[in-house]
Amino acid sequence: MQVFRAIESHGFGEAHFACDARLGLRAIIAIHSVARGPALGGCRFVDYESEEAALIDVLRLARGMTYKAALAQLPLGGGKSVVLRPKGEFDREALFVSFGRFVDALGGRYITAEDSGTSVEDMRAIRKATPHVTGLPIEEGGSGDPSPWTALGVRMGIEACVRFALKRESLRGLRIAIQGVGHVGAQLASDLAEGGAELVISDIHPERAKAVAERTGAKILPPESIFDAEVDVFAPCALGAILNDSTISRLRAGIVAGAANNQLAEARHGDLLHERGVLYAPDYAINAGGLINVCEELLARREGRPLNPEKIRAQVVSIFDTIMEILERSKKRGVPTHRIADDLAEERLGQLS
Ligand code: NAD
Repeated sequence: MQVFRAIESHGFGEAHFACDARLGLRAIIAIHSVARGPALGGCRFVDYESEEAALIDVLRLARGMTYKAALAQLPLGGGKSVVLRPKGEFDREALFVSFGRFVDALGGRYITAEDSGTSVEDMRAIRKATPHVTGLPIEEGGSGDPSPWTALGVRMGIEACVRFALKRESLRGLRIAIQGVGHVGAQLASDLAEGGAELVISDIHPERAKAVAERTGAKILPPESIFDAEVDVFAPCALGAILNDSTISRLRAGIVAGAANNQLAEARHGDLLHERGVLYAPDYAINAGGLINVCEELLARREGRPLNPEKIRAQVVSIFDTIMEILERSKKRGVPTHRIADDLAEERLGQLS
């Protein structure tokens, strides 16, 4: 593969590679931007088909973090890392301590956190080798589970879309489908039910869907049927790439607003939603609540003060305004929302240069 061409084509930047043959460590840290501050982004620990797939994933994700932080006006750049899962037996703790040394060598230009496949335990192992790690439990000086903040931000984004498209001030009686009721989806379901919405949910783990349905009165649909639900809002809170050629034509909802990262399989699917008159709340704009929480953890640590939940809440609630601004610009210029979000993020990056 053409490594440098791949790096350049994502608008980078830097990609750092580390190997520790003894422990089976093969890791990549991608730093897309440090223009607004240190490059913060989670560490993925997954089985990749190939080294090329791992590199493309980390580059794409790091770039996304730059845009997410800029749009949320946080003093952070964009970065991400991947640890390729070793084949066969390995010592997980030693592997992540070794990864921590790799993070440390970058001197704080990259700060890591949890992501798919990594846990609080892994963050604790990383912390043995570097202070440049977030996402630790509150009792250990961290900011705890980011999911409730992400869910609050998504709720604010849904409210903005509903106000804009349906001219409704309240969620009462609104029909909302949630795909995936894990950490974020389950909390979002509780928040929306409290606001009076009627919910339809799905999850590949039936016991999770059942628990949420018992608490919120939601109706459960099989995972493959959620796209066809007769609802006002579709909230993807499970997987990426779920807005694609085979699903978009099935959507009955006029609004798509949810937590999942990288919801559009390709950028052209955002154009397709726009052409069909579906209002799409760009994923990295609406799901920034967790990043806002982690950013406050970093700032509080740096300034030697306790976390300020009121500050986090105010910033997360302002996701309403960000989504509203995107929707208004999109309407005025006739340009799809995902392209407006990119423009706005680039504007906010440009303001610094
Ligand atoms: P999670 O793993 O806790 O929950 C995802 C849920 O989706 C699980 O219950 C899983 O069983 C379910 N699921 C998987 N495939 C499904 C399918 N085909 N149909 C229905 N359900 C399915 O993850 P999470 O932390 O709740 O995050 C959800 C999404 O939001 C992810 O895309 C994540 O990247 C994104 N996100 C999360 C946060 C956060 O604070 N946790 C922040 C930003 C973005």
